[in-house]
Amino acid sequence: MAEPESRQATGGHPDPLVAPHVARMVPYKPGKPVAELERELGIRNAIKLASNENPLGPSPHVAALLGEAGLRPEIYPDGSGFELRQALAAHHDVAMNQVVLGNGSNELIDLVCRTFAYGDDHLVFGKPSFVCYWLGSVASNLAYTEAPLKDDLAWDVDALLSAVTPKTKIVFVANPNNPTGAHMTRADLARLVHELPPRVVLVLDEAYVEFADADDFASAFEFRAERERLLVLRTFSKAYGLAALRVGYVVGAPELIDYLNRMRAPFNVNALAQRAALAALGDPEHVAKYVALNRVERARVGERLEALGLTVAPSQANFLLVDVRPRGFTGAQVYDALLSKGVIVRPMPPPLEGFVRITIGLETWNDRLLEVATEVCGG
Ligand code: PMP
Repeated sequence: MAEPESRQATGGHPDPLVAPHVARMVPYKPGKPVAELERELGIRNAIKLASNENPLGPSPHVAALLGEAGLRPEIYPDGSGFELRQALAAHHDVAMNQVVLGNGSNELIDLVCRTFAYGDDHLVFGKPSFVCYWLGSVASNLAYTEAPLKDDLAWDVDALLSAVTPKTKIVFVANPNNPTGAHMTRADLARLVHELPPRVVLVLDEAYVEFADADDFASAFEFRAERERLLVLRTFSKAYGLAALRVGYVVGAPELIDYLNRMRAPFNVNALAQRAALAALGDPEHVAKYVALNRVERARVGERLEALGLTVAPSQANFLLVDVRPRGFTGAQVYDALLSKGVIVRPMPPPLEGFVRITIGLETWNDRLLEVATEVCGG
């Protein structure tokens, strides 16, 4: 029997990377940005009458707000994110066609699901892990298997591998993981990279990578040459402090990036966000300062919470997952008690009803957290 259209090979690979409707997509073509034409012609006075923009600009109230950044809110942003992608490509030593930007990495998780999986394709991710993999699967109406972590909340690569079926198309791994803070060791990551069937698009979500300092931690960048269908997901929301502006990106092979680029919404990353991300990338000292603060405070807060009789999962991220059951509480009880004293942490859904997740803050914030945690859980 002939292969159905949906299963015909693409790109010489034995397994099709995308569905026919995705293959038919072409990227949205925005009006040419003034900066792009000026770059190409070496001129400075180009005008753009291509995108039905407002020549008066917005209200002066808005202009004043954004004026300092030299932004012109009436002009569409550079839909290709040229300057930011150029800087990211240099930062990671890859080509520009190996980078695509997203409106936060949340958008990219969704985009990966929509682009690379369809019909009866199946996804695998950890349980517990970042909830947006589940949201992405459900939103795209895709089947999935949640592979359990080990009892100590470490990654279980055998569980991930054995959750893979002949239909599995995408595997999401957060490294370090949210909400546990646990990292996947270099050896385990190597097993995934090498042992997953070639058809599977392996997505390493490295939202917290900057905070990871364990000797056996490895970024998926180390393995890029060893697997064609490997995507590395990064964000400016954590270490770079730009959560409100929504900037994330994916690095991967040009073929994969090309499909993501076709499926993303035009202008998905706004101009202010692009400018801010570029500025943030240019200030590695600021990231280093936060990472250093986090390292010291993560250890201190963890020790102090342990001293209260709570169990703190080892964390390679900027938060701690704290088991409050040893003091006879549920996570919701501790959450409510801390909330009533003005400290907001996160209660966890099943199977982590006995846990709260606590972000590492400034030293003074952490002192306050420890003070109220002592009132609630101490004694
Ligand atoms: N991945 C992980 C593992 C996260 O924890 C988060 C944020 N909580 C994200 C991605 C999303 O980050 P953003 O959309 O802000 O880039």
